[in-house]
Amino acid sequence: MAMVSMRDLLFHAYNNHYAVGAFEIVSLDFLRAVIEAAEKCRSPVILNVVEAHFAWFDVELLMAAVVRAAKRASVPVAVHMDHCTSLESVRVAISLGANSVMFDNSHEHLPVNIENTRQAVQLSHACGVPVEGELGHVAGIIVNNDNEIGGDQSLHTSSNEAGYYVERSGVDFLAIAIGTVHGQANAKPRLDFPRLARIRDSVNIPLVIHGGSGLSDSQYHKLIDLGVAKINYFTALADLAVKQVKSNLSQQDAGYREMCANINQSMIAEVQRCMQVWRSAGRAAEVRIQCGAWQNVEHVIIYNTNTDNREQIEEMLRKGRQQLSQIPGVVSVEIGKAVGDQGKYRYCWLIRFANDKVIDSYKNHPDHVAYADTSFRPLAGDRITNDYAILEDLGASLLSRIVSPKTA
Ligand code: 13P
Repeated sequence: MAMVSMRDLLFHAYNNHYAVGAFEIVSLDFLRAVIEAAEKCRSPVILNVVEAHFAWFDVELLMAAVVRAAKRASVPVAVHMDHCTSLESVRVAISLGANSVMFDNSHEHLPVNIENTRQAVQLSHACGVPVEGELGHVAGIIVNNDNEIGGDQSLHTSSNEAGYYVERSGVDFLAIAIGTVHGQANAKPRLDFPRLARIRDSVNIPLVIHGGSGLSDSQYHKLIDLGVAKINYFTALADLAVKQVKSNLSQQDAGYREMCANINQSMIAEVQRCMQVWRSAGRAAEVRIQCGAWQNVEHVIIYNTNTDNREQIEEMLRKGRQQLSQIPGVVSVEIGKAVGDQGKYRYCWLIRFANDKVIDSYKNHPDHVAYADTSFRPLAGDRITNDYAILEDLGASLLSRIVSPKTA
């Protein structure tokens, strides 16, 4: 089934009153557990990678595994980069394969949050990628005298500001603060449902809950009934993994492999439980039919050079690889040379775009225009350029979306 458009997925959930879990992936154990659970209960799922956790792992390697798992899954999957704080981190997230990003400037004053988010939306939409914005702030745990937790109320999302923020910034989904907190606690979070209803009425787009661990089934149902279509979930899974490791270590002579054994089993059961409670279980086929597939595009240029001067050609190639790979929506830039004497054309560029939207934004990007006009075209008059949609999933309707304008 491979990857699907996150925008289509969350609007499907919003319109059909269920929520899709965005499970945070911090290792291959988490990745395998989440995918296996989704496949077992035939649920769409979001694989969530969080910018703040980059210090824990090599994000480039982890994202390669996450994207591969998403593409080969038998259920619809979206790949989301959480809590991006700058335009550069949004660009990098898309280049690593995320087909949805969160832009989080919720710590800024409203006008700054709106302006920065608007720029992130502009960049992402030019790559076909939707944006989750945040208004208000989901904090860490605060336990009060009633043994209830609810975060700092002064940081909760203002329903008066929500419509204005969404309209001005252009975000596709809105993360809200109504009492959940990051990190699970034994105490019960107190959620402000009247505030949620007012926010829902003022924005009418899918709402997102951060700090999804530790709520009761009835709280989840009420959140979904009031417009929540995405629930971020991490701490409960991490706690289960830690419990399993501790139990493994209590066995005599546990080596590294024994210590890591069965970590995913308890996580699989918990993810399945969430998918049942959030009503996404059993919807994989429906989502696949009703939501657009996410397709990368290969921008292919085959060409001959007007010169045999090796230094000149290598300089043109080096410059191209360095500059073109920085353009938003470019996933990879490969240089090819014909093997032996084969072929009418001696060289090629294989430039992978995140999505067919990038064909136009890349073509018009000032760095592409400058490179093409001053470095590439003067040396490569004889060339053919085409764009190919990558058909990951040979299911219905994929062949209807192929595009092939000339852009080089
Ligand atoms: P929990 O760790 O509380 O489940 O929250 C996860 C989250 O919101 C990630 O953004």
